[in-house]
Amino acid sequence: APTVPDDPFASLNPEQRAAVEHDIGAADGVSRPLLVIAGAGSGKTNTLAHRVARLIIGGADPQRILLLTFSRRAAGEMAHRAGSVLQRVMGRGGAQPPASLPWAGTFHSIGARLLRQYAGRIGLEDSFTIHDRGDSEDLMGLVRHETGLTQTQKRFPLKGTCLSIYSRVVNSGQPLALVLQGSFPWCGEWEAELKTLFGAYVDAKQEQNVLDYDDLLLFWSEMAADPELGVELGGLFDHVLVDEYQDTNRLQAAILMGMKPSGQGLMVVGDDAQSIYSFRGATVRNILDFPKQFGTPGQPARVLTLERNYRSTQPILDASNALIAGALERHAKTLWTDKASTARPQLVLIPDEAEQARWVCNRVLEHREAGITLKSQAVLFRAASHSAALELELMRRNIPFVKFGGLKFLEAAHIKDVLAVLRFAQNPCGRMAGFRVAQLIPGIGPATAGRLLDAVGEAPEAALAVERFAAPARSGGEWQAFVALYRALRAPGLRWPEDIELVKNWYLPQLERMHDDAQVRAADVEQLAQLAGGYASRERFLAEITLDPPEATSDRAGPPLLDEDYLILSTIHSAKGQEWKSVHVLNVVDGCIPSDMATGNTADIEEERRLLYVAMTRAREHLHLVVPNRFFIKQQSQLGDRHVYAARSRFVSPAMLRHFEQCVWITADAAKGTAPMPDSVRMLVRERARGAWK
Ligand code: ATP
Ligand code: MG
Repeated sequence: APTVPDDPFASLNPEQRAAVEHDIGAADGVSRPLLVIAGAGSGKTNTLAHRVARLIIGGADPQRILLLTFSRRAAGEMAHRAGSVLQRVMGRGGAQPPASLPWAGTFHSIGARLLRQYAGRIGLEDSFTIHDRGDSEDLMGLVRHETGLTQTQKRFPLKGTCLSIYSRVVNSGQPLALVLQGSFPWCGEWEAELKTLFGAYVDAKQEQNVLDYDDLLLFWSEMAADPELGVELGGLFDHVLVDEYQDTNRLQAAILMGMKPSGQGLMVVGDDAQSIYSFRGATVRNILDFPKQFGTPGQPARVLTLERNYRSTQPILDASNALIAGALERHAKTLWTDKASTARPQLVLIPDEAEQARWVCNRVLEHREAGITLKSQAVLFRAASHSAALELELMRRNIPFVKFGGLKFLEAAHIKDVLAVLRFAQNPCGRMAGFRVAQLIPGIGPATAGRLLDAVGEAPEAALAVERFAAPARSGGEWQAFVALYRALRAPGLRWPEDIELVKNWYLPQLERMHDDAQVRAADVEQLAQLAGGYASRERFLAEITLDPPEATSDRAGPPLLDEDYLILSTIHSAKGQEWKSVHVLNVVDGCIPSDMATGNTADIEEERRLLYVAMTRAREHLHLVVPNRFFIKQQSQLGDRHVYAARSRFVSPAMLRHFEQCVWITADAAKGTAPMPDSVRMLVRERARGAWK
């Protein structure tokens, strides 16, 4: 094809182009299954976005393209990228490209949408609400209590552990005994009790018409497995594209197989060396077995690899390659780049975490002096709690930052309150939401709330039972005010997002009554209302916000920050798929990477290696691994929290070390020790985090 000056496909290399053009205009109109398996930074995501644009240019209906990504943010970015390619091609002809893809999101959010639509077909009520992780844990805790397990069995696993075990069983499809043996050996003695508990948990969800995260995949996969419904669902989409396929689990593969049994129109991309979610039941087998699972003898799956890396400099690639070369399972991939550089990545040895925080701040500021904006720099760490010292130091120096993967906006009590009111209006049988809402009303405590929910649960018409409930006299007017709100929210014809305005007006006075810092909280509620405006319906809003809560600036609504430049702080897991000019990795010590929670078996340790690989391959020009000699760990043993002497991560082998410039950092400051932070400063950090979110 002749290249026009503004051809957005001209920059693609031949392999990327092959993926983008794969079976476009095939004589039989059929697109065979396609797997792109390639290393970090080789342009997989970019290729996927171009493919979407190419399909639409070729006449595919955007309404019939399904794009599955690992976060809502990733879905948005990809749809945006595809949109701008389209703009360049179609804009010239005057045609308007579609603003966004109607079907782009995570497996969970798309599952929620399809389930809402097809609920009746599988015996679900379409008014179901979705439990977030916190609600699910609470329900598990409640059931655990009700089944009497906590009284008779001392040391019975905590609710969070129970939920993790349950979730692992559902997502992996393995028998409970095997899951216990493999991942929760210390709970092995409770197998029988756990079976009983999980049975009761499933019943409770069903009674209350609530779904947890796992149900979204489970029920979707069941719909897909149904011979009739599976074909119907598959028929909704001509093209299904999946990013980060190495981190999908058995249920997700089953969903694809049900919908596209011969892999027609299916394209997945991923990197087996970056599989980091097996703790959630993801299996790297999915990507390795793709050619076997999809495609038929007549129409085998096509496998393409990309070898050119466009992200990092050669020294960073060399160091990353050396790390992954030490893996037990070989990931045979050769990556090359033409981004030569003489700057080797740094391995920085530092006395302790406080020094680490100072050193990182200094480097960040130096980079900024050199013209690298804060936004194109990131600090990555294994666990959300590892950035505490750094956050304080950034505050002290007035360096703005935004943190990903930490405490979610959604976990704040006041946000939970507002969402619970909306959920309760949608599904009065959901006890977790109901219990929370009832107790917001003055004069209603746990006992009355319990009576209300029992009445609702027993009534033939749940919604009416709320309106008819005889609230105690002391809550008189307040109860009536709530019932009025409840009626308004359930009234047919109310348009979204007016609902949230109604809830806000009712809730703000309660907030005044309950909290000293009502003003700050009210601002968050306002923020939530603004965010709500971006969604088409209450159901969509509740589902999206529950499944993928806003956690940082990219999700914010409203006017931009005055100070638009800020440093990115992120857990490694949340950094997946992204890139920055400069990357610092904190705490590259044994106990952190690999995490001492993970040192159980070889498979876990190998996953930690891949995690470090993901972290290192986020860097484009500068990479710093920081190794504090002493660091603070929270221990669940009798020893309590303490400082420990740490050793450099076992992954930094001599072979890998060759690729690093080693720096040892000793300062006069270190000798002085660090004074404890006054509380006023701690408060400021919280304020800043709030501000940053906006
Ligand atoms: P990861 O494995 O980390 O998800 P990836 O394989 O998805 O990485 P991308 O994020 O798509 O890689 O691309 C990495 C970088 O390379 C991006 O900045 C992208 O814009 C750039 N890039 C990809 N392909 C090309 C190309 N053909 N020409 C120039 N730049 C490219
Ligand atoms: Mg990618």
